[in-house]
Amino acid sequence: MRSVLLAVSLLACHQAAAWSDHASLAWPMLRSDTHLMQPSVVVEPLDVFLEAEASGIAELLNRIEIAMIAGNPDYPPTPTALRFNASDVSDRRGRFIAALRISPRLEYSLYRQVMTDDVISASDETLAWSELSYLPSGDAEQERLYLSLSSGARVSPAHILSSASDEPDLGMDVGLYSDNDTEVGAQYGLGEQPFGNPNLPYGSQAPLHMGFYHLDALTQFAQPSLKRTLPLWRVIQYEELARLAFASGHEYWGWRFMGWALHYIGDLTQPYHTDPLPGVSLMSALWSLVMGETNDLIQLVSNRHGVLESYQYRRVQALMQQGAWQAPLLRSISEPQTACFTPDGVVSDLTAQSVVMGAALDATLSEQVPSRYVSDPSFEWVGSEFQTDVVALISAEVGDSAIDALDAELGLHLRRFSYYLQGWITHARTLARGAD
Ligand SMILES: [Zn+2]
Repeated sequence: MRSVLLAVSLLACHQAAAWSDHASLAWPMLRSDTHLMQPSVVVEPLDVFLEAEASGIAELLNRIEIAMIAGNPDYPPTPTALRFNASDVSDRRGRFIAALRISPRLEYSLYRQVMTDDVISASDETLAWSELSYLPSGDAEQERLYLSLSSGARVSPAHILSSASDEPDLGMDVGLYSDNDTEVGAQYGLGEQPFGNPNLPYGSQAPLHMGFYHLDALTQFAQPSLKRTLPLWRVIQYEELARLAFASGHEYWGWRFMGWALHYIGDLTQPYHTDPLPGVSLMSALWSLVMGETNDLIQLVSNRHGVLESYQYRRVQALMQQGAWQAPLLRSISEPQTACFTPDGVVSDLTAQSVVMGAALDATLSEQVPSRYVSDPSFEWVGSEFQTDVVALISAEVGDSAIDALDAELGLHLRRFSYYLQGWITHARTLARGAD
């Protein structure tokens, strides 16, 4: 049993990003909201917020720490030396980053992502992914552009929220564990990386972007490290910071923190981020162990996850670039739904449903995508030359019926993504109005 579940841990090596480019995924919804599109928010550097609200920040981080310790036996407590001290005026930013236990390798600077329907003037200073993130970039990242923002400029909540919702994938959660060979890994008290390969550049963020909150009892017993997932902690940290920022008149940071939290909510709408082996029953996993085929099983699930991300990114991106906002896939994101969502629903609602939807998603991918990509355990999809042309390859090899079936399946998941996005926007508006 132990070996089957230890092998399961390898799976996480491949599963770091969930949806690809969260900012563009939220955009079909956000761009249609005339209120959120108004450039009404004054851009403010992080240092200004930290100096003005130091005591409130210290109080809320302390409150979160107490609640996390009380509510989650697998939560690794914050070392005392990292607790945010409001009366210490030295290096507030560095101490804030350490107190949150996020990567100090990002600057948390003032920027926003350039969206496909943006009008950029020649005088705008654009930035590439490599100027914001220290992580290696693939094709998808190299296609993105960002705009540097100046303190005091005005920007829309839609742009802040969408840009910030992709920020955790720039490397905020990479290299935080004690075996990651980083300075902060030795200080942050998160322990050894519970699963995933510590040597891969993205691998170490997996336990913070995946939430295995619905493991069966046998798996929990045999592989307790799978319980050490922490996205709910991140959601709570950032939602509480947003609440404070809105309540104290720092609207820019209110929306930005809500965007950071939204990243994890978006990740958890994807079944591959809530279940180590979607669509595989415990009996099948045990049978694979008996037959010595466990690694094959893991590779297949990993490849299906990778194909889903490549397909989602290429389909959504192409439609957005064509301005096909009425296409069914984009409408599955933009159509209004009545939704309200807070951190209270992460385990009981969001991830519980994601787990339920995993088997059908996995089956659709295995049935509709050429078997080489999703049913050949000797093949590695992630990093393969086929990622960019995934849609054309499926269309040529299987036919348009496969595209229709995959679009229908993806549409279901994007509609769910949008439900939680819209619920989160409703929650953010409530906080922004100071009504909660
Ligand atoms: Zn993520």
